[in-house]
Amino acid sequence: MNKKYEAVIGLEVHAQLLTNTKIFCGCSTKFGNPPNSNVCPVCLGHPGVLPVLNKKVVEFSVLMGIAVNCRINEKSILARKNYFYPDLPKGYQISQYEKPICEHGYIFVDKSDGSQKKIRIKRIHMEEDAGKLIHDQGYDTFVDANRCGTPLIEIVTEPDINTPEEAYLYLNKIKQIVTYLGICDGNMEEGSLRCDANVSVRLKGEEKLGTKTEVKNMNSFRFVEKALEYEIERQIDILDSGGKIVQQTLLWNSDLNKIIPMRSKEEAHDYRYFPDPDLVPVVVDENWKSEIAKSLPELPDKRRTRFIQQYILPEYDAGVLTSSKQLADYYEDVIKETKNYKAASNWIMVDVLKIVNEEKIDIKDFRIPPQNLGKLINLIDNGIISGKIAKEIFLEMLRTGSDPEKIVKEKNLIQITDVDFINSTIDDVLNNNKSQVEEYLSGKEKVMGFLVGQIMKATKGKASPQMVNEILRSKLSSIKN
Ligand code: ADP
Ligand code: ZN
Ligand code: MG
Repeated sequence: MNKKYEAVIGLEVHAQLLTNTKIFCGCSTKFGNPPNSNVCPVCLGHPGVLPVLNKKVVEFSVLMGIAVNCRINEKSILARKNYFYPDLPKGYQISQYEKPICEHGYIFVDKSDGSQKKIRIKRIHMEEDAGKLIHDQGYDTFVDANRCGTPLIEIVTEPDINTPEEAYLYLNKIKQIVTYLGICDGNMEEGSLRCDANVSVRLKGEEKLGTKTEVKNMNSFRFVEKALEYEIERQIDILDSGGKIVQQTLLWNSDLNKIIPMRSKEEAHDYRYFPDPDLVPVVVDENWKSEIAKSLPELPDKRRTRFIQQYILPEYDAGVLTSSKQLADYYEDVIKETKNYKAASNWIMVDVLKIVNEEKIDIKDFRIPPQNLGKLINLIDNGIISGKIAKEIFLEMLRTGSDPEKIVKEKNLIQITDVDFINSTIDDVLNNNKSQVEEYLSGKEKVMGFLVGQIMKATKGKASPQMVNEILRSKLSSIKN
């Protein structure tokens, strides 16, 4: 990026709430039902019907507000935002305008240079989603109203973000928080988290904000980062060549890797916002607020700090393990079985996450129950199996879902610690590899590894590697003398 300029970014994130029913009616929010089957006169906006606010939506919104340090407004107003679009049968969206439910929050993100950045949250408001348009291959467009009235919260930042990296980190943090709270599944590809980015640039040191554009249609966090990089460059090029930024809405096209104009930006007054006369103000008194606050789970930052202190884990491990609630829960279930905290962390970070990433599955669908991973670690720590055999058992557990103790018995994998047996195996190997022994004695230390390999092979990997190493070393040094 051009050093003369600084980018200014504000993000608007829509999170689809995990309620069973819609925001103003009893229709199901279930995804994937036949088109126009989860509908009723209320969410279709028939005249004369009355909306009733879903209590859960208020609770989820307040929970999020508390989690990101917002002030919860005791009284907030639902307002109509009027516009026409075929996916909006009512002709208006019920949202919040002048008095949102939460305001003035903040979160911190951890940057790759080790510093922390505070990003203020301007507001969080409740609103309903619109339906979906389905464009046929031919000339027809269909309307599916199932999504009409699905509850959303919109989380709006102050223009505190200055780089695409910070935007990426902010989005990850928001995703982490909503999934920890269990209020949204956080899936950006499927649209349960959506992000619009407001971008402007200004000369470094300048106070005044530049004219902004709004970029939409980015359905992954990486696309947001890319689109921002693109848009910042575009604006700088225009300013550098003496031009002016036009305030407008732009669409990110991930196939072309570029931005295309969508429409000139509408202003708030175009929407003719007014308080919805069918809905009373939402009142969240101190009592209700503290009831909701009680259900606040331990949040990711706190959990990470606790992991470092309680389980003596490196910061890195704690960060990875608490990156999602499910993974952190998995870890804490493993260590109910074993007290080897670091080994549990290593197995999860290396072996478990490898499979989870390769198969692109959720940790909750991982086939090895945490108790069994804990047992496997105990088998190693108690000297019953070697670390190498443990890796094989891990794969077997993955294939069969079976208990590691059972696998060890059935496959007879118990580590050999019988001194006499190990002694005689080593003697055999030394006798059969006289030239290698000579090489070792003449100073080729590396041959040691070969000899250990032969001994392990002779015992099908079951000899205690520690004993093999010790005995072999002492035998070789006595030959030497
Ligand atoms: P609008 O009325 O256009 O929706 P808002 O004031 O509601 O604008 O702000 C929407 C988002 O845009 C917020 O996240 C805000 O921080 C951000 N924003 C506002 N002005 C600018 C600007 N000049 N440059 C970048 N972001 C901005
Ligand atoms: Zn309905
Ligand atoms: Mg706005």
